[in-house]
Amino acid sequence: MSKNYASYLKHPVFKVASQIVTEKNLQAYVIGGFVRDMLLGRPSKDIDIVVIGSGLDLAKECAERLRVKKVSLFQNFGTAHFKYKDLDVEFVGARKESYRQDSRKPLVEDGTLADDQNRRDFTINALALSLHADNFGELIDPFHGEEDLEKGILRTPLDPDTTYSDDPLRMLRAIRFAAQLDFKIEPKSLQSILKNANRLEIISMERIVEECNKIILSNEPSRGFKLLYSTKLLQQFFPEMVALHGVEIINGKSHKDNFYHTLEVLDNVAGKSDNLWLRWAAILHDIAKPPTKKFDPEIGWTFHGHEDLGARMTPRIFKRLKLPLDQKMKYVQKLVRLHLRPIALVKGFVTDSAIRRLLSEAGDDIEDLMVLCNADITSKNEFKVKKYRQNFDMVLSKLKAVEEKDRIRNFQPPVSGELIMQVYNIAPCAEVGILKSRIKEAILEGEIPNESAAAIEFMLRIGGELGLTIANDPR
Ligand code: ATP
Ligand code: MG
Repeated sequence: MSKNYASYLKHPVFKVASQIVTEKNLQAYVIGGFVRDMLLGRPSKDIDIVVIGSGLDLAKECAERLRVKKVSLFQNFGTAHFKYKDLDVEFVGARKESYRQDSRKPLVEDGTLADDQNRRDFTINALALSLHADNFGELIDPFHGEEDLEKGILRTPLDPDTTYSDDPLRMLRAIRFAAQLDFKIEPKSLQSILKNANRLEIISMERIVEECNKIILSNEPSRGFKLLYSTKLLQQFFPEMVALHGVEIINGKSHKDNFYHTLEVLDNVAGKSDNLWLRWAAILHDIAKPPTKKFDPEIGWTFHGHEDLGARMTPRIFKRLKLPLDQKMKYVQKLVRLHLRPIALVKGFVTDSAIRRLLSEAGDDIEDLMVLCNADITSKNEFKVKKYRQNFDMVLSKLKAVEEKDRIRNFQPPVSGELIMQVYNIAPCAEVGILKSRIKEAILEGEIPNESAAAIEFMLRIGGELGLTIANDPR
């Protein structure tokens, strides 16, 4: 007896589609991600409907009856799409695909439901529910995908070598689903991914990074990255991260494995924040450790300047990975550059001026920097971790106190360049810059409070020392 899930198809889109399919005696099915997520109890906003015949006609008719005005038709691909309330509904004619070696683009012809299921990536993504009234809600599951769903297994419908070399993006999708759903990739599939990893070269960076970002946004991203590493897929697009892997020993002294350390930091950040870019900052925070690594017989391993070099590497990496080069990149770059600063405070004696400097540089990203920095405290040594975390809490409360007192975040010196020029009746020149930075320094160092009257007094004193004459006294 085949299973029936009619009770899951209560949404008006399914009712209307079913009426049309039945009236016209068509075959059409809800298929793929929506069915998978429904059975897993995960909310899903995209519905894919596959039709034996034309997807376009069914889409148009469906939209009309649902009073949806805008339908996008992609004649060349035989697909159609409309939005209905908060759902994305996509219609496609069933197809049969055959692939060539050098391209992700297959030769496509009309096919049966079985052909269409064969070209799907995983058994759990090939599940179909019938929309015809004769067997409304019946599950068509030729590859035992429902069983795989229950067991938590990712398996390809065809031989994995065929599925993966036909479309290498599927290798990344396998790892993405393993990470998102906490599923296991079956061993034959894993071996096949390892074998076909270099085929990823025919996939565009945009597609690769889209999957990678989904891995990063999963609950425990380290799981996905460990798989990316062990299957050698990571090497194909992110060699800088692979370079973090491994431990070197000289004179019995070793350093920590920065790949696993980075993953621990990433998981720690993921436990605190869903911000994709903060998670990217975790991935990149130590990215320059391999190129800055040195062995000093006296002190052991050092990675001097890795935060600065890491910040300089960030735009290059973003560009290659086709990640946005706008404020998001700048934000990641800033966090990479500053990631050691709070911990330096934790280790040493904390002065107000050091806190003010950090606040002034981090601005509104100070909380995120502190999340990253706290996540960066990883060690096998419980005692060390505990001590650091205690000091860290102290730095946090000090940050709060100094911010309340001095409002240094988004620091704008209380005396502007315009005012300086007006007071001394001078055009823009070196002295204006000198005065501005002396005032800023004095505030950060705590010599004067962050207030306009005090800053003006200070300016007049320094102006005098620089030999400037007052033209308009601001007092
Ligand atoms: P999500 O929506 O969470 O990204 P999904 O599985 O729904 O996951 P979509 O990209 O929406 O992914 O694709 C819908 C369905 O299309 C999938 O469930 C799968 O059946 C099929 N599919 C998508 N991409 C591929 C691919 N590269 N190879 C084979 N089948 C695919
Ligand atoms: Mg989907």
